[in-house]
Amino acid sequence: MPLKKSRRSKEESAKNRCLLEAAPAFQKALHDWYDKNHRKLPWRERPSLYRTVVSEFMCQQTRIRTVLPYFERWVKALPDFKRLAEAPEEQVLKLWEGLGYYRRARNLHKLAKEIAALDEPPRSAKEWLKFPGIGPYSAAAITSIAFDTPAACVDGNVVRVLARLTNTDILFKNTGSANRHFQPLAQGLLDRAAPGKHNQAMMELGATHCQPKPECDDCPVESFCEARKHDSAENIPQFLPRQTEKLEITRIWRMRGNKILLSRAAKNSRQLAGLCELPTAESVGLPPEKIRTAGILKLRGKRSITRFSITEWIYEVPEKKLCTKDRSLFWADRDEISSLTISGPHRRWISKLLNGEKAPFEAEN
Ligand code: SF4
Repeated sequence: MPLKKSRRSKEESAKNRCLLEAAPAFQKALHDWYDKNHRKLPWRERPSLYRTVVSEFMCQQTRIRTVLPYFERWVKALPDFKRLAEAPEEQVLKLWEGLGYYRRARNLHKLAKEIAALDEPPRSAKEWLKFPGIGPYSAAAITSIAFDTPAACVDGNVVRVLARLTNTDILFKNTGSANRHFQPLAQGLLDRAAPGKHNQAMMELGATHCQPKPECDDCPVESFCEARKHDSAENIPQFLPRQTEKLEITRIWRMRGNKILLSRAAKNSRQLAGLCELPTAESVGLPPEKIRTAGILKLRGKRSITRFSITEWIYEVPEKKLCTKDRSLFWADRDEISSLTISGPHRRWISKLLNGEKAPFEAEN
C-alpha cells in the first residue's frame, strides 16, 4: 500500500511539474482570453474593496445570475463599509432576504464594523482570515483582486480546472480536501505580476468553458490540458458520494381575520436569527402526529439547507387546538408581510396559501 501511495504521489508531482514549467505560456493564454471574454459584472466594472467583499460574500454557494439584483440593491442602499457598519441588523437581513445562508449577511455586517473601525484595511490574506466569515478562499480572492496580493484562490471552479489540467485520478473525500490538495499547485501557477486578474481568470474558466460538462473545443488552455489529451475531462475530478440527510418538519397555517400566525427565530439562532417563518408543530405545543389528524394539509414544500434535504408539511389547524404562548409566536397583519424578513421558501409558500392556490404540493424550492 505505501508503495502504491508513493508511486501515485510521484506521478502527481511529475504532472504538476510539467504544468508549472509551462506556467508563463499558460498564464498568457489564460489572461489574453480573459481580457477579451470575461463576463461584465457590476463588481468588475466598477471595482472597489467594498464591492469585491460584498460580491464574494453573496456569490458563496449562490449563482451569479441570482446575485446580480441583490448586489445592485445592496450597494445602492449601503454603498460603503461605514454605511453598512451603521445599518441596523433588520435592514441588513431584509436586503439579504431570499439569498439564503443568512449567516453570511450577519458576518458581512460584523466585518464591516471591524473594517470601519480601522484606519486602513489590511492587505495580506493572512490578516483577512481573522475577519468574520472569511476563509482561505475569500481571503485570497479579496486581497488579490483589491490589492494585487499574490495569494491563489482555490474554489470548486479552480479545482475542476486544475484536476483536469493534470488529469488526476485521485478520488477526493470532499471539496475541502480537494481545495487543500490543489492549493500548492494553484499558488505555483499564479501570475505574481497580476494575481487579481489571474485568480478571476481561473474562476471564470471554471464557470464557463470548464464546467462539469466541459466545452473544450474553444478552451484557451486546451493545449496545456492532460484530461483533454486523454479524453477524460468529463470524469474528473472524482468525489466520494455526498451524504445527504432527509428531514421532515410539520408546520402550521393559521389565520385570524386578516392576521397570520408566524414565528420569529431567536437572535442567537445560528442559522436563522431574526427570520420569520410559519410556526413549527413544537412551537404551538402539538406533536406532529396530532397535527396530521387535527389539521388539513394545505401545502408540502421542499428546500435544501447544506446537507439537509427538508420536506415541510403545512397544515391548517383550528385555533382552539393551538397553544400560542411561545415567545417566538406573533400575529402578523397581512399587509405587514412584505416588510418582515421571511426566509425565501416561506415567503413563497405564504403567498401561495394567501392566494388560495389549488396545487398543494411543491416539487422544488
Ligand atoms: Fe477544461 Fe476542457 Fe479546457 Fe481542459 S480543455 S481546461 S477540460 S475546458
